[in-house]
Amino acid sequence: MPLMPYDQALEQLVQQLIPTIKTEYVPILQAQGRVLAEAVVTQHDAPNFDNSAMDGYAICGVDEVNWQLVDYVAAGDSTLNIHLNVGQAVRVFTGSAIPQGTHAVIAQEDVDVIENCISSRVDVQPQQHIRFQAEEFAQGSILIAAQQQLNATHIGIIASQGLSEVLCYQPLKVSIFSSGNELQVLGQALLENQIYDSNRYMLLALLAQKSFLKVTDGGVLPDQLDTIQQQLAQAAQDSDVILISGGASVGDKDFTKQALENLGEMQHWKLAIKPGKPFAWGSIHSDTQHSKVFILPGNPVACWVTYLVMTLPALNMMAGIDLARALPKKVLAQAQLEMSKTQSRLQFLRGNVEVNAGQLHAHIHALQSSAMLANCGMTNALVIIPQGETVTFGQNIQIMYLNSI
Ligand code: AMP
Ligand code: MG
Repeated sequence: MPLMPYDQALEQLVQQLIPTIKTEYVPILQAQGRVLAEAVVTQHDAPNFDNSAMDGYAICGVDEVNWQLVDYVAAGDSTLNIHLNVGQAVRVFTGSAIPQGTHAVIAQEDVDVIENCISSRVDVQPQQHIRFQAEEFAQGSILIAAQQQLNATHIGIIASQGLSEVLCYQPLKVSIFSSGNELQVLGQALLENQIYDSNRYMLLALLAQKSFLKVTDGGVLPDQLDTIQQQLAQAAQDSDVILISGGASVGDKDFTKQALENLGEMQHWKLAIKPGKPFAWGSIHSDTQHSKVFILPGNPVACWVTYLVMTLPALNMMAGIDLARALPKKVLAQAQLEMSKTQSRLQFLRGNVEVNAGQLHAHIHALQSSAMLANCGMTNALVIIPQGETVTFGQNIQIMYLNSI
């Protein structure tokens, strides 16, 4: 298969995905990070009754010189039996219901009180300091659209409607494996020519940030076609998604693509990106389950980058997130680098963006080998260099800011 440009690969992948339709009610305290399956619609107007925006006095007749205090309404008190006439005032507080007949509220710091009479030290405008019923929204309005991931403010908004649970998509079931005879698990000493498996732990940590996923750790698979095939087949029985790193290249011991082809279909292999060329995806079908399979490169940085730029957008979409929110966000920054040689693949360079005099500046790290994971820990952005282009110092270039992914 030819190298496919990144944008084309992402578009093709997205078109092949089948977003979940399974839903469940989730208590709001467990709903953070989950994907909303049904819009949250307002149960009542907001505010639900006219109320005071200030501690002060509700008055009738804005042109009066002073007003007679006739009542006292704290937040939560009833105003059913109060009706103001011109020249009258009622003591109110922030959130107190406004009595009928009120024309304005005067803040208490603008008022002189002499016995039962108040006067204002400032001009009084009609309707000032009143929060009117439905001025934020009317009953039946959409407060939170479906297909987005719920954050903490969404939880507050849902609670403001008196709802204790919301309809979300069921979590996607994801199984994850590493592959390679050289891989050692943590807690075991390294034998000759072994390395520790870092990809699986990194991917498990990345996936753990997503509460719309239910993750099963499949461990490390040897470079053995029949074992890989048997483990993938078993995982496919009960997984919406399978991630496996390693064995995706052209070496004699690279069996993961073969295993996928034997069990289902490989839809694409090889991207025109650096790092991340040996990335493949496909699917395994059974009567009861359709599993999407992603084969990530073994080199740790390539594994990380292809998770961020291909796998995560796919997981987002399959979990029910709408396309605009599922895809990586790119912004422009000023290049603090030079690149005179053009590259044959689009590059995702590890770097940092910082704000300098109100402008985003993009720097890159010196070491960019896909085997060198260490500087990823000091990376807050992937700096994108399009294939075939050069970069001059100070020009605008696209970056993916990683905290917003
Ligand atoms: P492969 O794609 O299997 O040919 O692996 C490419 C490179 O990535 C090799 O140097 C592997 O040793 C390394 N590698 C593969 N899997 C992992 C892993 N889980 N953790 C760290 N390095 C890995
Ligand atoms: Mg390998």
